[in-house]
Amino acid sequence: MFAYHVVSRVQKMTSFFQKVLFFLSIFLFINVLGVGSFAYAQTAVADLQEKYEKLAKQYLVKHPSIHDFYTITTKGIYMYASAQDKKKNKAECIIFWSEIDDFKKMILHTDEVTQLKIYLEKKQQKFSWTHKKTIRVAAYQAPKSAKSPAEQPLLGKRIAIDPGHIAGDLELARIEGRIVDITHEGRNYQFCEGDLTLTTAELLAKKLEEEGAEVLITRNKPNHTTSGIPYSQWVQQELPAVVAEAYKNKLISKKQKQTALRNPMRYTVHEDFFLPIDLRERMRKINEFNPDITVVIHFNADAEKKQREAVSYKNYSMTFVAGSFMKNELSNSEERLAFVKLLLLGNLEKSFQLANHIQDQFVQHLGVPAIPTQNPLAYLNKASIFVKKGVYARNLGLCRLINSPIAYGESMYQDNIKEMKALHTNHYPYAPAQRVQEVAEAYFKGIMQYFKEIQ
Ligand SMILES: [Zn+2]
Repeated sequence: MFAYHVVSRVQKMTSFFQKVLFFLSIFLFINVLGVGSFAYAQTAVADLQEKYEKLAKQYLVKHPSIHDFYTITTKGIYMYASAQDKKKNKAECIIFWSEIDDFKKMILHTDEVTQLKIYLEKKQQKFSWTHKKTIRVAAYQAPKSAKSPAEQPLLGKRIAIDPGHIAGDLELARIEGRIVDITHEGRNYQFCEGDLTLTTAELLAKKLEEEGAEVLITRNKPNHTTSGIPYSQWVQQELPAVVAEAYKNKLISKKQKQTALRNPMRYTVHEDFFLPIDLRERMRKINEFNPDITVVIHFNADAEKKQREAVSYKNYSMTFVAGSFMKNELSNSEERLAFVKLLLLGNLEKSFQLANHIQDQFVQHLGVPAIPTQNPLAYLNKASIFVKKGVYARNLGLCRLINSPIAYGESMYQDNIKEMKALHTNHYPYAPAQRVQEVAEAYFKGIMQYFKEIQ
């Protein structure tokens, strides 16, 4: 049955690339079955070469012409699109010995379309940053809790976590304007806030679940909207209707409408048309989950520095709760309903308690000082109400719409020189940076303190 399945599958593969990739995956798979754990580091390259040559000859090469399409060298396995290409040494794809593990993960955890795409993109290079990330995200499996109910102080508690932004790669991070791309002392540091927040959220969720809590994370796939579709798909499928509606309601001009549709992968389109809808979806998910508390995770950036591409030498933490309605912010009935809900639900004090504990941990556990009471930041002085050092009420889109106590954390400046160096190696979810683990721990400690206090 298996053999028949394989044969029919091979026959269906129309392109030669697919066949090559398929055979290659089979022969790697045979290798794994045959030798148990695959340890590239301990095996001499010559042995690898010999072993794969032998396997290829023994199982794969029926007709001598197949030799025109591959070669196994001291560097790895070279695949060629034709005999001519092989003569010119123009490999279509090289799988280097050091990449065998990642290649194996790619075969086992991604779909065939993705595999072929990466195979053809890779060419004679090693896996790119984006390739590695795609593979590791697909291969990640979260470990499970081993604690018994008696050891779980958060049993019965429901906690919503909202990781800010959506980008998981640099391209989308640039569009949403939440990217660190700084060259410092000849070295380039690139990462995106959406990647840090999602990693923090997952790590925090795991800690809370181990204590018995039921956790909702509002979004769980990089580059996907909170409603669960890729951003590029949202732009194609949803944006036209959103723009048409805005035009119909006279919120934008005809020219604005045309510009948005002609060139949609831009910051302004993201900001004006996507964000309000995405925030509403986060709100809807959280309120539907009906949590005991909600925590919103962000990483701040230095708003005082002159250039976006410059490194910052400042580093402060701050935490927000709902409130601080400004002039004209009660001009429609929806806003007024939000206002009265905040007033009546009894969450303002609890939000402050939660924010207070989280803010304390930013200072104690992370060593990031609270923003000084005297500071030049307009968003604090003009738009926020001071509650306590580091804690402010602010009328943020998400905070005012949530029906539970809510704290919105900005644990640090991600563009601070020290933090930047500690954060840039973070890759959701495969390789969380040590510093991001500390951030998750700070939120965790703050949340534990809060539940202790309100008992
Ligand atoms: Zn943010």
